[in-house]
Amino acid sequence: MQTVTRFAPSPTGRLHLGHAYAALFAADRAARTGGRFLLRIEDIDRSRCRTEFEAGILEDLAWLGLEWEEPVRRQSDHMADYAAALASLDERGLLYPCFCTRREIEAAATAPHGPEGAPYSGICRALTGAERAMRLARGDAYALRLTEDDTVVARKDIRTSYHLAVVVDDALQGVTLVTRGADLAFAVPIQNRLQRLLGLPVPAYEHHPVLTDADGRRFAKRDRALTLVSLRESGVSPDAVQARIRCSGGVF
Ligand code: GLU
Repeated sequence: MQTVTRFAPSPTGRLHLGHAYAALFAADRAARTGGRFLLRIEDIDRSRCRTEFEAGILEDLAWLGLEWEEPVRRQSDHMADYAAALASLDERGLLYPCFCTRREIEAAATAPHGPEGAPYSGICRALTGAERAMRLARGDAYALRLTEDDTVVARKDIRTSYHLAVVVDDALQGVTLVTRGADLAFAVPIQNRLQRLLGLPVPAYEHHPVLTDADGRRFAKRDRALTLVSLRESGVSPDAVQARIRCSGGVF
């Protein structure tokens, strides 16, 4: 069977070595079966994304020697798909509105922070119908959460969330293997739950180590010197980047 993989960066900065590893890993997994490698631009948070970074992603990946299928899926062009998934969950009574601010969530948290911040104490899940109706009528801003586990499926400012957009896109794009860094392993059970509730196919998952620098720190957008564009400008070749990734733990 041919594997369909994707690389799904957010255009919030230039790509660095960690992104290069993730992209090469996904492309390699597709190539092993003569499968397909897709690119997806995860730009639902328009306030953090910039079109020049999107152009930079395409430029850097092409420089690395990667080829992907056109058209590239850009999440902000597909808000209607996420709205349809939300409506399906809402119609079945699986969601509740959450009016909490980030500060209220943090203040009420009794367990340590997880990968997505403070765990939600469930304040708004416990609101009475009358309280809920009053706040909605008053026009209070609200996120939407899954009643069965409090996962946010629509943010207050954006009518989708990372998890919802990813499961809808992976299904619509026919992705059969999701490859990502081990830092996103926590997302699998959350995304599996959404796939089950939405009746979507469940892809396979494979996590790769998160690439770190010589001091064991993970690459981040702040490490300007290690962006692909600065490596390129300082005369480093794509082959040298690939070699560096392979010897710093990149297993592919
Ligand atoms: N857009 C996410 C990121 O930049 C990756 C999401 C995913 O692969 O599911 O880390």
